[in-house]
Amino acid sequence: MKIERIEAFQVQWSPADTPAQRSAFVRIWTDDGHHGIGEASPMMGGLASLGVIINDIAPTLIGADPLDHAVIQDRLMHGHLVKLGPDGALTGALAAIDIALWDLKGKLFNLPIYKLLGGAWRTDLPFYASIGGNGAERSLDDVLRHIERRLEDKPSAIKIRFDNPRVNLDADISDHLAKARAVRKLVGDDFPLAFDSNNGYSSGGAMQVGRVLEELGYWWFEEPVQHFHIKATGEIAQRLSITVSAGEQTYTTGGLVELINAGVRMIQPDIIKMGGITGLLRCAALAQAHGVELVSHQTQPMIGHLANLHVCAAQLHLTKPCEWNDPTDRMHAIFDEPPLPKDGKFHLSDRPGLGIDFIEDELTKRRIDV
Ligand code: CA
Repeated sequence: MKIERIEAFQVQWSPADTPAQRSAFVRIWTDDGHHGIGEASPMMGGLASLGVIINDIAPTLIGADPLDHAVIQDRLMHGHLVKLGPDGALTGALAAIDIALWDLKGKLFNLPIYKLLGGAWRTDLPFYASIGGNGAERSLDDVLRHIERRLEDKPSAIKIRFDNPRVNLDADISDHLAKARAVRKLVGDDFPLAFDSNNGYSSGGAMQVGRVLEELGYWWFEEPVQHFHIKATGEIAQRLSITVSAGEQTYTTGGLVELINAGVRMIQPDIIKMGGITGLLRCAALAQAHGVELVSHQTQPMIGHLANLHVCAAQLHLTKPCEWNDPTDRMHAIFDEPPLPKDGKFHLSDRPGLGIDFIEDELTKRRIDV
């Protein structure tokens, strides 16, 4: 059995979507008719990763054994492609390929991926509602209404994110703190909350915000400063008692080691940015070896989400619920069994592979080949 064909394409969910709002998917076919599906990081529509797949990866994979997925990843990562720069487009491309090959492997063995990973500690996975866009663009009342709506899905926790262009650090601290206080008041003292600054503060600003979050009993404080300021991130993590997290913009295990050595005790690699299932498994081993929490980042609600859930199912020390970003049905139409929460949890089935597949007719309507 050999890899025969690799498709790499965007999906446009609605006609009004901009190119940057499209998803970036791959499908890999073998010569005996099996296939697997994968997803790359959708930043800027995932075009950079899809280009790497089409131009640089696909031609070298034709004829390869799909079960050699780890060797394939290392050969691509450490061969000449590393000269593209491993931070971003390349590791997103490798992630899509790896997820598709694991999905294919599950279909070949007729087993869900978590079983191939050595078994699940749990197949019912609690989630947290990840809610973006709470900055100056949204009023305090609107923030609270968003949270009330998301509470209807019975999340185990809520994370409020303050998306910002990262060019005006600290500008909205008082607005952010007013919202952090109001959200705590809304949900009560015992409900787990997390706060994501999305790199919005200086070191001093981050300390100011972090101390208020400690008073308010928030669970973790995510990416307080610019992500490339690793030493500053570590210093803030060490000086605050609240758990400070980072790592969603880290693309290599070496990069995660730097964060850990700087003092970060909760890392958040993302399966569609960091080498897929093979990559995230390596991150889990790294976290375990260093005694830090691994709480994977994942904001794509279909393929990436399911790939992440399979790894979370097999993960020792799943200390926090899984991220769930987009509760809308905008991506449901092209999938046969889109993952939906029930009773506050996602439930992995024993369907082979990821447990999801395309509905071909619906995919065709929205597919944009690049
Ligand atoms: Ca984040």
